[in-house]
Amino acid sequence: MTVQKRVLITGGAGFLGSHLVKRHLDLGNQVICLDNLQTGRKTNIESFLDHPGFEFVRHDITQPYFAEVDLVLNFACPASPPRYQSNPIKTFKTSVLGTMNMLGLAKRVGARFVQASTSEVYGDPLTHPQPESYWGNVNPIGVRSCYDEGKRAAETLVYDYERTHGVDVRVVRIFNTYGPHMDPFDGRVVSNFIIQALKGKPLSVYGQGEQTRSFCYCDDLIDGIMALAEQNDYKGPINLGNQVEFRVMDLAKEVLKQTQSNSEIRFHPLPSDDPQVRRPDLSLAEKYLHFKPKIPLKEGLEKTIPYFKKEIDRLHI
Ligand code: NAD
Ligand code: UDP
Repeated sequence: MTVQKRVLITGGAGFLGSHLVKRHLDLGNQVICLDNLQTGRKTNIESFLDHPGFEFVRHDITQPYFAEVDLVLNFACPASPPRYQSNPIKTFKTSVLGTMNMLGLAKRVGARFVQASTSEVYGDPLTHPQPESYWGNVNPIGVRSCYDEGKRAAETLVYDYERTHGVDVRVVRIFNTYGPHMDPFDGRVVSNFIIQALKGKPLSVYGQGEQTRSFCYCDDLIDGIMALAEQNDYKGPINLGNQVEFRVMDLAKEVLKQTQSNSEIRFHPLPSDDPQVRRPDLSLAEKYLHFKPKIPLKEGLEKTIPYFKKEIDRLHI
């Protein structure tokens, strides 16, 4: 018999957080979703509101919070560059003060703690693909630093709480993930291109579109996070994502093909410190979590485009 867990999911009204809420409710667990709705949306959680195992608490994790739980999934933090750069000091506070508050909670109640970290800790990487042992190439004073350095500091805190207070921690470094529940306006590349293509507007390619990313469909990523939180062999940090690398221009062409759009491609200046390449080394994820993403980009886009079509109608975009 599986024991019901009490799970606190910070950022639970966001893109990834809301998928985690669903998985835990489906397992019969009780979920507290803590979110200040800075980038999250009530629509992402509205189908859970009547569920007896679900509770939404509007709260900012930069302030302390108290609850008796068995597992904390700390996912609160804006993830899209325009969003996290729009209020950089707040972004840094969320990663550092927020993570410290949630680690304090985990320490007090003896809960396992899972931190959502990011491939951004590798910065504009000089090692390719990126293994967890790579320490990164991050600009500490640039426009992306509030996020990159905030997440790096959060990792420091996680492992210091483990060494100092014995908190049972896990850290996942998430690489670019996409799928339903993304905010159509949050400015990330997959959502921008799909909305632009569906609306017949020019696709905004930054730079020459030669920079690469490795795009993971959300269901694959969530499988990996669930496995990480369950296993007892490895505390991380561990990379999760998809190993297949695409140029941003390849993504633009695939989106145009799948949406049958005649939109033109329009080039814009490359934002500063935009990483030139990014691809996860997944050896540790394969070894400890038996993680192998199943959904290639083409199939993931086929699942994601209908979601954005509905959002365009619902929001009158
Ligand atoms: P998202 O913006 O959709 O979700 C973040 C959620 O956190 C939102 O609901 C937002 O309202 C909430 N939030 C932000 N600051 C908060 C605060 N101070 N207090 C309470 N709630 C707060 O982003 P996402 O893509 O779902 O990302 C979730 C987590 O995963 C983030 O920590 C992000 O850094 C990490 N991550 C995501 C990706 C990705 O590709 N999606 C990649 C790397 C890391
Ligand atoms: N990008 C782009 N057009 C857009 C949005 C993003 O060409 O409308 C590029 C961006 O410069 C980056 C890549 O796509 O090289 C991924 O950007 P995103 O904001 O999704 O996430 P990042 O990996 O940079 O955090």
